[in-house]
Amino acid sequence: MRRRVIAGNWKMYKTLAETRAFFSAFAPLVANSKHCDIVIAPPFTAISTAAEAAKNTNIAVSGQNISWSKEGAFTGEVSATMLVEAGCRYVIIGHSERRQLFRESDDSVAKKTLMALGAGLIPIVCVGETGEDRDAGLTEEVLRRQFSGGPGALTPEEFSRILIAYEPVWAIGTGRTATPEIAADAHRLLRRCAGERFSVPIASALRILYGGSVKPDNIKGLMAQEELDGALVGGASLDPKSFASIVNFTA
Ligand code: PEP
Repeated sequence: MRRRVIAGNWKMYKTLAETRAFFSAFAPLVANSKHCDIVIAPPFTAISTAAEAAKNTNIAVSGQNISWSKEGAFTGEVSATMLVEAGCRYVIIGHSERRQLFRESDDSVAKKTLMALGAGLIPIVCVGETGEDRDAGLTEEVLRRQFSGGPGALTPEEFSRILIAYEPVWAIGTGRTATPEIAADAHRLLRRCAGERFSVPIASALRILYGGSVKPDNIKGLMAQEELDGALVGGASLDPKSFASIVNFTA
């Protein structure tokens, strides 16, 4: 049985004071939640504050991005080692906002994933088709391409240390959640890709999170699908009560 992961992606929201206030309210609400791994990805500036607030709790901290380089003259970039030093255990890689707004390619996703693994971080590698892709019947082709250019470029050992997040772009921040069946179909496809590229046992152990307008009122239906090993949550992770009720979806 794969252990579920519920991760919150704060994007470019929350000051240090707001981060502290979030953790004070959120940590007690999930203190007894043992059924899943809980992860929060604050913006870079709030990582140390979040890591401090998460000490002695069951909450892990994640970065939202890293550089594909170890160090160097890369103005504005942050390395995997820096994230570890600041208190991260995870890092989100290849989020669709990075792919669309900052032109990240499958190749840079693969390089960043290697950097993350080298520093001991757990990468959460995002893939997902746009609405136009889906309408044009290209979902499978796009997911296969993103898989083979990114996670599929790893060795089996490296691959066994990553998480994948299936995030259909048309569902992110739109309030249009994929139905549990649509999400499960995409997860099955990604697992098939992993089985073809690596092996069936490796594919069976892979944890695939769903992301795209996950809310307290739809998490139960989504998690009823065995294929879904958790969720990557944007907007609804900003409020402690709403994110706690997503984490505590079985209650
Ligand atoms: C995300 O940012 O990864 C995301 C899924 O956002 P939202 O939950 O707001 O759609």
